[in-house]
Amino acid sequence: AAISEEEAAKTAVAAADSGATTIFDKIISKEIPSSIVYEDDEVLAFRDISPQAPAHVLVIPKNRDGLTQLGKAEERHAEVLGRLLYAAKVVAEKEGIAEGFRVVINSGPSACQSVYHLHLHVLGGRQMNWPPG
Ligand code: 5GP
Repeated sequence: AAISEEEAAKTAVAAADSGATTIFDKIISKEIPSSIVYEDDEVLAFRDISPQAPAHVLVIPKNRDGLTQLGKAEERHAEVLGRLLYAAKVVAEKEGIAEGFRVVINSGPSACQSVYHLHLHVLGGRQMNWPPG
């Protein structure tokens, strides 16, 4: 029988928490091609394969180091979290949306997180609505 979305999400969380890699590792290693917007030693930013706005870029730490989701961050992650947020601003400039953009982090199944390697979504290029769904 097909497993429910809820069960699938729990499985993805458990797998990532026990160290399983995600598709983002293959993007970091360039085994899977992506449209890279920004890269440095710690951070990679690439266009989302299923864009929800004219500009939609994902910003990720290259070393996941336990950061499967924001809800599991520890104090030792504070510096990289700051770098990711600053990289989001650099990405917004590169994409020409610095005057208005949104940064989203989905943390956990009920927030619709689907890839358990922490990532920021940088969205813009259209009027955004509030509240989000
Ligand atoms: P989440 O739902 O976890 O917050 O966001 C995961 C995002 O990763 C989704 O927006 C999805 O479109 C994107 N994504 C999943 N697989 C790939 C991929 O192979 N390449 C790229 N560029 N984006 C991906």
